[in-house]
Amino acid sequence: MILRVILLATCLSILPITGEAADNLGILGAHPRWSVLEHYQEAITHDEFTRLIQNVYCTHGFAPDLIEVNPDTARILTNRESQNFFTLRFAKNDASRNRVPRLWHPGKSLPPAKADKPLSGLRIALDPGHLGGDWAKMEERWFQVDSTQPVQEGDLTLKVARLLATRLRELGAKIFFVRNGNEPVTAKRPDDFRELARKILIRNGVPQPRADVLDPNDPEKEQTIRWQSEILFYRYSEIRRRAALVNFKLHPDLVLCLHFNAEGWGDPNNPTLTDINHLHLLVNGSYLQQELEYDDERFEMIRRLLSRAYDEELPLADTIANAMGRETQLPAYQYPTANSTTKVGNSGYVYARNLLATRLYRCPVVYCEPYVMNSNDAFARIQAGDYEGTRNVNGLERKSIFREYADSVTDGLIEYYSKAREKGD
Ligand SMILES: [Zn+2]
Repeated sequence: MILRVILLATCLSILPITGEAADNLGILGAHPRWSVLEHYQEAITHDEFTRLIQNVYCTHGFAPDLIEVNPDTARILTNRESQNFFTLRFAKNDASRNRVPRLWHPGKSLPPAKADKPLSGLRIALDPGHLGGDWAKMEERWFQVDSTQPVQEGDLTLKVARLLATRLRELGAKIFFVRNGNEPVTAKRPDDFRELARKILIRNGVPQPRADVLDPNDPEKEQTIRWQSEILFYRYSEIRRRAALVNFKLHPDLVLCLHFNAEGWGDPNNPTLTDINHLHLLVNGSYLQQELEYDDERFEMIRRLLSRAYDEELPLADTIANAMGRETQLPAYQYPTANSTTKVGNSGYVYARNLLATRLYRCPVVYCEPYVMNSNDAFARIQAGDYEGTRNVNGLERKSIFREYADSVTDGLIEYYSKAREKGD
């Protein structure tokens, strides 16, 4: 589940002492190292670059001075204040292009595998969304119907990750957990962000922010230092630390972000249940114009584009989505607007969207959003818990919702990698 976007525009970089222009960074953003992109010189053709910009990454357009595409080069703004640019040289054609530097392995680069070990040699990191446990209420990933077992997304995703790990290991994959418990990866806590939260609120037009939330249903709770410092902790700091773990320690070939979706449930102690239930998957792309204004986000987008992660994650996401659609029988989710997402691929279930995790993990990332937790059907299945085989739930013989999730993702991975490895490079 992805919470509605709360725009926290910042430009809180410490003023430079040397007189050079400050970077315009997103929340807790890292200073971009544009020189890294030198490694991608002449590794992509003009046509491929243009296709990815137009159809995947910048589908909402961008300010004309940010990226200028010429026949032989692309000129990318690195800093507006100082008017600095990075110049990327295109490869003349596909045959003469340089190798793309990367630490992950596309499926077709892996040697053919035994039929019963289609994932051998593959490194997969499982990223169970959110934290769960004692953090679930703070994360707003908690609801309870009467006196039934509370539904906490972070606990459900971890359960799926553990089932999935067992299945994928049997198939030969090396599995890593980005989170394998209810504790955050980040060492920071909300109190560490009180000062930053206060500055962000002031910058966003709240001159004297209140310290605390008085009532959880208060519509102005988002304007309190407490609420902002909590989101800085559990979203921004936490996902950035997970990214550091993925990028500098785990080096996986693929990250699977595991989530459960929801429709607005209102009061978490008296939630609304619905008959709506659906499935979608996300890959990185579809950056908003205002996101591209941030120097770090623009840099991360270009690096991701040049790494060609999309060429791997899109067909992977489509294949997994088809398997999940078949096995869960869920219809494809349709976003109510195209403001932040762009439909991609051919399964009908996959969208491009610029989320922190899909942007920051430097390898193919497939982000799964099956089941509406507060749908009548999923709610009953979550209450039924995990079990082997099938049981009658809501009048149908079915697997546990957790096994159906894990098994369908597994089947998609088997299908994708078996085919990719057969074809070879
Ligand atoms: Zn989620």
